[in-house]
Amino acid sequence: MKKISILIPAYNEQEVLEPLYQRLGKLANDNKSYDFEFLFVNDGSRDKTINIIKDFAQQDERVSYVDLSRNFGKEIAMIAGLDHVTGDATVIIDADLQDPPELIPKMIKYWEDGYEDVYAKRNSRAGESWLKRSTSKLYYRLLQRATNIPIQQDTGDFRLLDRVCVDALKQIRESQRYTKGMFSWIGYKKKEITYDRDPRAAGQTGWSYPKLINFAIDGLTSFTTAPLRISSIFGIIVSVVAFIYIIYLVFRTVFFGTDLAGYPSMMAVILFLGGLQLLSLGVIGEYIGRIFNETKQRPLYFVQEYHSKSKKSH
Ligand code: UDP
Ligand code: MG
Repeated sequence: MKKISILIPAYNEQEVLEPLYQRLGKLANDNKSYDFEFLFVNDGSRDKTINIIKDFAQQDERVSYVDLSRNFGKEIAMIAGLDHVTGDATVIIDADLQDPPELIPKMIKYWEDGYEDVYAKRNSRAGESWLKRSTSKLYYRLLQRATNIPIQQDTGDFRLLDRVCVDALKQIRESQRYTKGMFSWIGYKKKEITYDRDPRAAGQTGWSYPKLINFAIDGLTSFTTAPLRISSIFGIIVSVVAFIYIIYLVFRTVFFGTDLAGYPSMMAVILFLGGLQLLSLGVIGEYIGRIFNETKQRPLYFVQEYHSKSKKSH
């Protein structure tokens, strides 16, 4: 029998675990032709999340868990999960029930048809503010322009991955991870299905705006060096214009004499160039920062405890 692993990163999700577990259980009962594994990754929750997961695991052999040593963030929680899943296919799903588990049979169907990455694209984003939606849209458009690989918009991490994809993702050991881009980068046969995203069932989103901005910068700098290129191009343009202006000034002085004015325009130019220089330095700094972090070659996470009664099919 083929085994489907459901991978659930969970950070402070005590309120939603019970309903989630019910719905996953129902999913497994309705699809008896597959083995199921529910792999919870407890990402250093400060509430009762891990106790609840342990309770599940005690009564139910399908439940396994990876308890991380602290909160590492969802990106790392996902790779920790991928390192431990045992199924022939893996479905990554949020704990907060924003991704309906009822979609999984459809994903499995496409997987059986030979698709290796069946991802769910959301039609609507109920419960999200206008600002969040429009900034996200703008960001994806930018990212798409700057990178060569197609990164799916309105697509989260809710997807079914074949074993080949899981093994591919496991080989990418970058510490500042942008998994959403990696799904596209690894390739393999993809299939899109659409769904309506529900608002969070309960609890709080772990994402604040500063976190989102960091994530957005990580996305850009991990998949494209375009910002570096842009600052070079800006530099070239400004230098050429300045050079022409200097020649003009020399000619004007030689033929028409000097006039001493233009303090405001000089300030404007100095400030503008100063700003550009700082920006370019910042951009270079972003990449140096990435190099610094990756050269440390640290392990991505540490595991407090791994529990699994699920038989390995790999
Ligand atoms: N999550 C995690 N570690 C974190 C933050 C979030 O494992 O540091 C999990 C969280 O438990 C949930 C999923 O990642 O299962 C998505 O998080 P959230 O719902 O906060 O994000 P949003 O839906 O707002 O994008
Ligand atoms: Mg959510």
